[in-house]
Amino acid sequence: MELVRTINEVRKIVKEWKSKGYKVGYVPTMGYLHEGHKSLILKSVSENDKTIVSIFVNPIQFGPTEDLESYPRDIERDKKLVSDAGADLIFYPEVSEMYPSHFTTLVNTKEVSENLCGAKRPVHFGGVCTVLSKFFNIITPDRAYFGQKDAQQLAVVKRFVRDLNFDIEIIGCPIIREDDGLAKSSRNTYLNPEERKAALILSKSLAKGKDLILAGERDANKVIKCITDSLNTEKLAKVDYVSVVDNENIQYIDTIKGEVLVAIAVYIGKTRLIDNFIIKVED
Ligand code: AMP
Repeated sequence: MELVRTINEVRKIVKEWKSKGYKVGYVPTMGYLHEGHKSLILKSVSENDKTIVSIFVNPIQFGPTEDLESYPRDIERDKKLVSDAGADLIFYPEVSEMYPSHFTTLVNTKEVSENLCGAKRPVHFGGVCTVLSKFFNIITPDRAYFGQKDAQQLAVVKRFVRDLNFDIEIIGCPIIREDDGLAKSSRNTYLNPEERKAALILSKSLAKGKDLILAGERDANKVIKCITDSLNTEKLAKVDYVSVVDNENIQYIDTIKGEVLVAIAVYIGKTRLIDNFIIKVED
């Protein structure tokens, strides 16, 4: 497994692979990798001849009061996880490599990025789409792998890839959880032991909402209330949003029908956590 830091080196290596007819899979990450990231890497390794993992804490997707500086980093540990998962290359660029001076181009979506996290983090998805456009142009992967954990991100990426005609298959992968149900996240490391326990309220509350839908409830507001009430039973939890949207355009819906995304963002202490489930309702 190689680690490269420059765009030119990556381009050279990928060109050589493509000359041999190899299919290239790509897993974008911000590092501090865990089993969730590993599941994407393993899927890419199983479906492609070569797999590239990028590790880049992208400054332009963080708002001014967000955790850019404190975001956890451990490249040595990450190298081991990527190598154990069987990937071929880590692309680990410096910020100056990705954003030279006078960098002024921004890729953004409308509609699909306007609600949920897009409403709460106004610069976030523009930063994500911009950096991914760059990585897609540098790496030119055949397939790219994203977690359902960041459900709105997955919808946004599918949209801009379609709209801008990137010739890349976008593959969504299921949420990987801790044994007790907490969705794995690099940010879980911010939680102290008391907060870690309190964080279970996210998956527990979503499970209640899901049970309600499975029992026949189709009123989105009743599901939102059920989940919100449950989240509010935890004193360390502060609800950022609880939303029910269609899973394609990420627009709010009143009636649960079709492929629906139920998504939440909750502060546990100072740490903002997200979680969700998708449910298909035909009747
Ligand atoms: P991040 O490093 O947080 O930007 O995440 C990189 C990729 O890993 C994104 O596509 C995430 O959706 C995905 N990911 C993060 N956590 C999980 C998880 N618990 N299960 C599955 N995928 C995940």
